[in-house]
Amino acid sequence: MSSKKAKKISILGSTGSIGRNTLDVISRFPDRFQVIALAAGENINLLAEQAWKFKPRLISCKNENLAQKLKELAPPEVEILYGREGAVACAVHPEVELVVSALVGAIGLLPTYEAVRQGKDVALANKETLVMAGPLVKAEAKRQGVKFLPVDSEHSAIFQALKAGRKEEVSRLILTASGGPFRDRAKEELARVTVEEALKHPNWQMGAKITIDSATLMNKGLEVIEAHFLFDIPPEKIEVKIHPQSIVHSLVEFIDGSVIAHLGIPDMRIPIAYALSYPERLPLGLPPLDLVAASPLTFEEPDLEKFPCLKLAYQVLAEGGTAPAILNAANEVAVEAFLSGRLRFDLIPSLVEETLAACPKKEINSLEDVLEADILARIKAQEIADRLEKI
Ligand code: MG
Repeated sequence: MSSKKAKKISILGSTGSIGRNTLDVISRFPDRFQVIALAAGENINLLAEQAWKFKPRLISCKNENLAQKLKELAPPEVEILYGREGAVACAVHPEVELVVSALVGAIGLLPTYEAVRQGKDVALANKETLVMAGPLVKAEAKRQGVKFLPVDSEHSAIFQALKAGRKEEVSRLILTASGGPFRDRAKEELARVTVEEALKHPNWQMGAKITIDSATLMNKGLEVIEAHFLFDIPPEKIEVKIHPQSIVHSLVEFIDGSVIAHLGIPDMRIPIAYALSYPERLPLGLPPLDLVAASPLTFEEPDLEKFPCLKLAYQVLAEGGTAPAILNAANEVAVEAFLSGRLRFDLIPSLVEETLAACPKKEINSLEDVLEADILARIKAQEIADRLEKI
C-alpha cells in the first residue's frame, strides 16, 4: 500500500468507452483510487461485472426493470438504484471526491451539475454539461471551489499547454480535428453515406454518437463551445485545424508567438489518467510515440461548406443563452435519426439549422431554462426530422 490515501471516485457512464478506459486506468493503480459509485445505462451485464471487480458502494442503471435484473447479477452488498435519481445519487455520494462525468448526451447535465453543487471535483468528458449550461455550471463551480479536469483529449491538451504561460498571454487556442472518415469525400457524395461508413473513425475508438459527431464535425463544434467555457477564452481566439493523424491533440499560442502543442498516441487513457491523478502523472506503460512512424504530421483548414455543423456551433456560441442547448438537442435528434437509418447523413446539419431557426432563444437563469429549451428543441427537431426523413 502506498502511504497516500486512495482518491474516492464515482463514474457516470461506466460501461461506455470513457468509463471502461477509466476503470482500466484505475485497475492499474489500485492503491491510488477507490471506486465508490458506478452509473450506467442498459448494459447491466457489464455493470455487474464492474461491480464484482471494483466493489463500489452504489451502482445505478437506466430503469427499474433493469435494476430488478441487476439485483440477481451484482454482488449482494452493493446498493442498486436507477434512472435520473440513481445517476444523481452516484454523483453526490458523500464519500466521493472526484466524479468522472462520462454519460453521453444531455442526460449527463443534471448529475454533473448536482456533483458541482455538492462541491465535488469533476473529470469532465460529458461535453453537454458546458455546451448546454456553461454560464450556470461555471458560476456554481466558482461558488463551490470545484475543479474541472478535462478528459476530452483536445481539452486535456490545452489544459496542459496553458501551463506554459499566463492566461492574459494567450493569443489563440487551436483545437485539432481528425476530419473524420469523409474528409476527402466530395460534398455531393455525403448524401449517400451509410451508417457503417460513418461509424468507422480513422483514429479513435469511441461510442456511436460521438463517432457520428466526428464525421459531421459537430463534435469539434461542441468542443469549441466547451473550450470557451472551460478556459474562459473568447470564441474569436479559438480555432480549429484538421490534423488527420491525431498525434497533436491541440495547441496554445502565446502573445510572443510561442506555440505549445501536446502530442501523444491517440489513446484516451492518457487524458483520463491525467484528470484522475492531476497534478501528478502516472506511469501508464503505453507504447511510446514514434515520431518518425507517425510522420508526416499535416494540417489543413476545415471545410465549412462541406461540414456546416462547425459553423453552426460558432454561431450559437456568439448568440449565447439557450442557443447552444438548442443546437445540442437538435443534433442528438438528428444523429439518432441517422443511426436508425431514417435520415440522410448530409441532412443532419439541415435539421440542426432549421431547428435553431424555429426555436426562440432565451437567457439562462436557471437549470430549468436549459432543460426547457432542450425539451422544446427536441419536439421541434422531431417535427422537422419527420419531414426531412422523407427526402
Ligand atoms: Mg475530442
